[in-house]
Amino acid sequence: MYTAKAYSVASATSQFAPDTIPRRATTERDVQIEILYCGICHSDLHTARNEWSSVMPTTYPCVPGHEIVGRVIRVGTDVTAYRPGDLVGVGCLVDSDHTCPNCQADVEQFCRNATFTYNSPDRHGTAPVTYGGYSESIVVDERFVLRVPTNLNPAGVAPLLCAGITTYSPMRRWGELKGKKVGVVGLGGLGHMGVKFARAFGAHVVVFTTSPNKRGDAVRLGAHEVIVSTNRDEMKQHTGSFNFILDTIAAEHDINAYINMLTLDGNLTLVGAPETPLKVSAFALLFGRRSLSGSLIGGIAETQEMLDFCGKHDITADVEVIPIQKVNEAYERLVKSDVKYRFSIDMSSLRTK
Ligand code: NAP
Ligand code: ZN
Repeated sequence: MYTAKAYSVASATSQFAPDTIPRRATTERDVQIEILYCGICHSDLHTARNEWSSVMPTTYPCVPGHEIVGRVIRVGTDVTAYRPGDLVGVGCLVDSDHTCPNCQADVEQFCRNATFTYNSPDRHGTAPVTYGGYSESIVVDERFVLRVPTNLNPAGVAPLLCAGITTYSPMRRWGELKGKKVGVVGLGGLGHMGVKFARAFGAHVVVFTTSPNKRGDAVRLGAHEVIVSTNRDEMKQHTGSFNFILDTIAAEHDINAYINMLTLDGNLTLVGAPETPLKVSAFALLFGRRSLSGSLIGGIAETQEMLDFCGKHDITADVEVIPIQKVNEAYERLVKSDVKYRFSIDMSSLRTK
């Protein structure tokens, strides 16, 4: 074991503060990574503040961060895919059982024994739970390490490891989006990636936002149309017209307003994870044979496919790079939907102070 510098929260109401955490020594299969950038996902905030206590209670201290880009500094004797110096990524998963049907089907995120990057029981016993990327380094089984395209800005690549795959995966699974009318609800970290992917897949892209000041950005990011969801007249014009809608809202909201936007057999996929249950109107689904689904990140193979796609099409997140010392301020802005469009922590700030 060794110790690494990190930022943690001590309770649901604490601010982030500098901390020192244990990391396991590199075993045969492990890759030790010096973290360069780590994105701030709204899931980090939900977890740090124990907002998901009814489903996944938080164990403290908590070190979030699952949008990690770094440089390999050491590899175990059995590691074949990576060498020191390689640019790599780690997303929301760091282990699974590799034997269950979901692992066999390359959807390790649904493995019952999956280990998530933070706040998951640590099967190596290094600490009670896993600690994420708000840290100077991390040790990960090579099967959960991703290759990062070197032609992209690493600060903007970090958010692809969660926001990227979470929006890429359901759109890919839905099928051919070319020429289809696709809605993205909420222009935050996930939403802005959803816009970029939907545009890259050839869809007619419409953004629903509660923030009128994001109109211009939505168009710059790739939207063909922007609807301010608080404007009833604007909303009415689009009723029953969407093939697919991706809902990324992090808080309680009227989901029926969006289900009603779907055309016959249209689908709304929920990726946002508000802490309280949403009320679904049966009639909104019945009339139009519409469907409502959920989606959770993506498997490792699909995450690699997404990163390769981004490398080929020059896609990264729009990031505001911050030093780790500004993480508390960043969280306050995230709650206010005031981020354009993802915070990416420059982890050299942790090493130098
Ligand atoms: P984010 O950057 O905070 O973006 C969420 C956006 O939702 C905001 O920018 C805002 O967009 C809109 N919004 C926020 N509060 C709202 C409200 N009360 N009513 C209507 N709209 C509201 O968050 P994120 O990192 O993209 O994450 C979004 C959600 O997805 C979170 O719940 C997160 O935990 C979840 N998530 C799920 C997965 C998964 O695998 N399913 C993966 C990652 C994250 P406008 O200003 O445009 O309205
Ligand atoms: Zn995330």
